[in-house]
Formats: sequence, C-alpha cells, structure tokens
Amino acid sequence: MITVKTFIFSEFQVNTYVLSDESGQCIIIDPGCNNARQQAELSGYIGDQQLLPVMLINTHGHIDHVAGDRFVTNAFNIPLAIHEKDIFFLEKALKFAEFFAMGAEQPPAPDRLLKEGDEIRFGNSVLSVYHVPGHSPGSVVLYAMEDNLVIAGDVLFKGSIGRSDLPGGDHDTLIRGITGKLMTLPRDTVVYPGHGPSTTIGYEYDTNPFLKEE
Ligand SMILES: [Zn+2]
Ligand SMILES: [Zn+2]
Repeated sequence: MITVKTFIFSEFQVNTYVLSDESGQCIIIDPGCNNARQQAELSGYIGDQQLLPVMLINTHGHIDHVAGDRFVTNAFNIPLAIHEKDIFFLEKALKFAEFFAMGAEQPPAPDRLLKEGDEIRFGNSVLSVYHVPGHSPGSVVLYAMEDNLVIAGDVLFKGSIGRSDLPGGDHDTLIRGITGKLMTLPRDTVVYPGHGPSTTIGYEYDTNPFLKEE
C-alpha cells in the first residue's frame, strides 16, 4: 500500500512526491527543492519516517522538476531515472535555471532510462511507466494499478493540461496521449500532478475543458 507524501517546492510551486510503502523503501519524484530549508524538509521527512530511498525519478526534464536532483542523489546515493528524450533538459539544466532566474545545481547523468511499458519496483509496490509526450518529448506518467493512483507530472492537472509551447512540445500529441493512456484508467484513479491539487480521472473526464471534443 503506497503512501504519497507531497511537498511544494521552489518559486515554481512544483509538487515533489515521496512514495513509500510498508517495506520502508521509498522513491523520490521530481525534487524541486532548491534551497537548504526545502532540502532539510525533504530529508527530515525521510529520516523521521525511517525510509530508505531507492530511486529518484524525473517525470520530465524541466528545471522546476530537476532542480534538486543533485541534492537527492548526493544525499541518498540513489540512481536517477528519466526518459531518454528529456536528457537534453538535464544537460542544459543550468542554462534553463539561469533563464528562469532559479537556483539549481547541475543534475547528474541518468542511471536508468525509462520507456513505455517499464515497471518500477520498490518495496512491495509496482508502477507502470507510460510515455506521454507533448508537454515535453520525454514526459512519463507512473501508474500504480494496485494502489489506484497515477503520478502525472505536467501532463494533466486539475482542470487543465500541460503547456505545449516549450521546446519539443506538441498540443495534439499531448491530447492524444491523455485521452489514449490516462482517460482509459479507472474513474476513481487518483491523479497527482506536477503542480496544484490532486484530482481523479473521472473528475477530469467529466469536467476538464481541454479534453472536450471539438
Ligand atoms: Zn514541465
Ligand atoms: Zn512543472
């Protein structure tokens, strides 16, 4: 049974997630922590809960989601996983950080490349990797069928979808991915997006204005 802990970090208000289960193992997703106070908050939680981090995952390579990669890999000595098509953003992270006037450290090179159909395992839990490009070329969402939840990155938000005007973005591709891969999940699946509050597949299916047929 997965426990989801949400932190909201940096001026971009990115949702950083720690997923843990009864085994005590956890994975860290999209660490936006880019100052000492936020980094202490993240490691404090992991220490207090006596969790053992086993993997760091970036849902995609945008700077707000990777700003704390270096901190996490240094602090916990764990591998970094990302889709191949977003490595470009990691490599150029400091340039993007400068552009957005955001504090960030150069992320390490990834240790594992995620692709459609992969399974990520930690403790007794398993997440399936769906490649859903369009916000960024290498955006992935992570679906935990047993736990009825999906980590959506910047693909799908409550009442909105990811922007597609950034490098490598494409609106139609994004819509196709959301309708083909996310809207087919059970309606009560809880969606944890990269920014803002959580929602459900059913709620977005019924109300998300971006997903209405033209
Ligand atoms: Zn993004
Ligand atoms: Zn974002």
